[in-house]
Amino acid sequence: MHLVCPSCGATNRVSEARVREAPVCGRCATPLMAAEPVNLSDEALPKFIAGTDLPVLVDFWAEWCGPCKAMAPQFASAASQVPDVRFIKVESDYAPTASARYRIRSIPTLIEPEPAPKLGPEPVPRPAAAPPWPAWAGGSSGKLMPRSRARAVIRS
Ligand SMILES: [Zn+2]
Repeated sequence: MHLVCPSCGATNRVSEARVREAPVCGRCATPLMAAEPVNLSDEALPKFIAGTDLPVLVDFWAEWCGPCKAMAPQFASAASQVPDVRFIKVESDYAPTASARYRIRSIPTLIEPEPAPKLGPEPVPRPAAAPPWPAWAGGSSGKLMPRSRARAVIRS
């Protein structure tokens, strides 16, 4: 499968058998399957989503956002427990393109973007399936659309 390096953006081919053996980027040696959220820039996000053959969960957050900080430990915990999902953090203030593309209206917002080839020109909205945020994460002001396993971990 293909994994995009979160550091240098190189696309790495990793056999399925080796995905769980802590593969590193062939160009810059950054771990490709780090069990923690990784920060991506506005520019890096589309390539990462398009080139990564694993589910990607993106947390849009901001430094000034209290509920974002409250959710961060749960997000990190989920990242450590669900290695088959790549957990990405995008600082929304510095990501105007991604924020517009995914219609980020409040933060924290979690999205599970479809890979680009299936996406077409517009993202596929799936808000109907989103449960409300728990109170500690800002009540109903955000949207929660992770893969079901990740969702279960975050809510636990
Ligand atoms: Zn790299």
